[in-house]
Amino acid sequence: MAADEPAQNTAEEPEAPPPLDPEILERRRHAMQHVRMLGDPILKTKARAVERFDDELRDEVARMAILMNDALGIGLAAPQVGILHRVLVYRVEQDSPTIALVNPEIEWSSRDEEISEEGCLSLPLIHVDIERPVAVLVRARDEHGDEIVIEATGLEARVIQHEIDHLDGILILDRTSREQRKAAMRALREAEQAAANAA
Ligand code: ZN
Repeated sequence: MAADEPAQNTAEEPEAPPPLDPEILERRRHAMQHVRMLGDPILKTKARAVERFDDELRDEVARMAILMNDALGIGLAAPQVGILHRVLVYRVEQDSPTIALVNPEIEWSSRDEEISEEGCLSLPLIHVDIERPVAVLVRARDEHGDEIVIEATGLEARVIQHEIDHLDGILILDRTSREQRKAAMRALREAEQAAANAA
């Protein structure tokens, strides 16, 4: 898969090539201003478990869902918007409802692993191959405090694992090989240079 085709099996990145509708692009640009970027220390910090399931938490989840959708992402973790809570939202299919997981725990992961390319809203322009279990069983609470258990495979399992990593201060660059990390950072510098030259 080419790095610039976020449509397929990449965690968190846009589920389709960015549309050309200027209104949608403007919404995405605005949403991305609220997303913490690589280099922000909050992305390397372990988030705290949520203890109160109140309106404040539900507002936080609703806001994260809007930001994720506006950013054309398929997953978002609270630290990415500057909140050190163990909260994540995701929506793998365009027409499925957004799911919020509070205090998620991976109870079981398959021995079977798979390598796939991942991107991250906090690391635009970076795509790296990451090996993860194909299936996971996750226990969490929803934003009302009710317990939920999710059996996920494929892209859903990958997104959940990617987002739980964020809650532990782990980024995709921490999960890939040294060579891939170097290549990704080189590509990023080149893209930034090209953008600077074009400006
Ligand atoms: Zn991410």
